[in-house]
Amino acid sequence: MLIGLCGGICAGKHAIAEYLIENQGFQLLELAGNRQSESPDSGDELRLQASEIRKKEPQSPEFTFQDAESLLDFATKRWQERWVTTDIADANILDRFLLRPFFLLVSVDAPVSLRWKRFADRCWRRQLDPPDLEKFVLWNDHNLYDKDIGRVYLTDKAQVRLFNSSSSLGELHSALESLNLADEQRLRPSWDQYFMQLASLAAQRSNCMKRRVGCVLVRESRVISTGYNGTPRHLQNCNQGGCPRCNRGDGGGVGLSTCLCLHAEENALLEAGRERIREGAILYCDTCPCLTCTVKIAQVGISEVVYSQGYNMDSDSAAILQQAGVRLRQFHPPSNGLIYLQASGTPIGVQEIETQEIETQEIETQD
Ligand SMILES: [Zn+2]
Ligand SMILES: [Zn+2]
Ligand SMILES: [Zn+2]
Repeated sequence: MLIGLCGGICAGKHAIAEYLIENQGFQLLELAGNRQSESPDSGDELRLQASEIRKKEPQSPEFTFQDAESLLDFATKRWQERWVTTDIADANILDRFLLRPFFLLVSVDAPVSLRWKRFADRCWRRQLDPPDLEKFVLWNDHNLYDKDIGRVYLTDKAQVRLFNSSSSLGELHSALESLNLADEQRLRPSWDQYFMQLASLAAQRSNCMKRRVGCVLVRESRVISTGYNGTPRHLQNCNQGGCPRCNRGDGGGVGLSTCLCLHAEENALLEAGRERIREGAILYCDTCPCLTCTVKIAQVGISEVVYSQGYNMDSDSAAILQQAGVRLRQFHPPSNGLIYLQASGTPIGVQEIETQEIETQEIETQD
């Protein structure tokens, strides 16, 4: 695999590259002369300082390339080995890299005040005068947001986004160890992940005022049908007033029998038709099915239900499915939100924090 690291000045991309090289068998691929383009062409002492504090042993020439295209060709022929680069600095080049299935873009960010401190520390160590905070901020803004340099465009495309607020290398290393960036599953989603993401995509088409839910029916790893919740066809959409009950905003469970919205699971089951739902069919749903969907799922002969988020009647649904001989399994897609590299050594994704909070609150009903 090839990991590309991008991020702001002193966010920690070089420290992460060094960790991968020293601990996980990665080798560094470099672009000749990239150290100059690393900094904006402001021509002031900051640029000189930046290149000065990054000065180190020159790389072996076989891993240094004249252009990004030859670096990418090199890695393509040896993709089963582990490579890392911090030298992707151009949006067009990045797009070429992102086409390759062995490439993972990782962005690294950190608070600007912390990055300034890191930069100043390095200056002191080299007996250079560090810039003041304002100067550093202006330089940083230029580096990230300048139309021509466009580093923020790079970080926006990252498949993994790290927030490196660690205060020491030891802290960073232990967080990276538990994160295991080299896990090849990051390159390609598993079937569970793939179908759950499709279910979440379907949920975005929901028009029900109460809650977005999406569902995908699968057999032998092939999609049979998809569904999301909302009013039936030819009726006005729920979010345009189609279901008076959902639009009254009553609490969960109130007036259920007057609701005109079909659930995501119902829509997926109706769309597939019983003929196509045979032994081995799996229902993926981003929310655990409610009771009325559960009995339908049991009746049409679904073999397994996989859900990601809990709902307010999970144990009742689970009991019914168990009686009906339908397996029920919860699957949490891996977090691709911002991952905090923390002192505890357990990087916590923002999504996971949010999920924990949601689970302790009362969950709004789907109906
Ligand atoms: Zn509705
Ligand atoms: Zn309704
Ligand atoms: Zn339901």
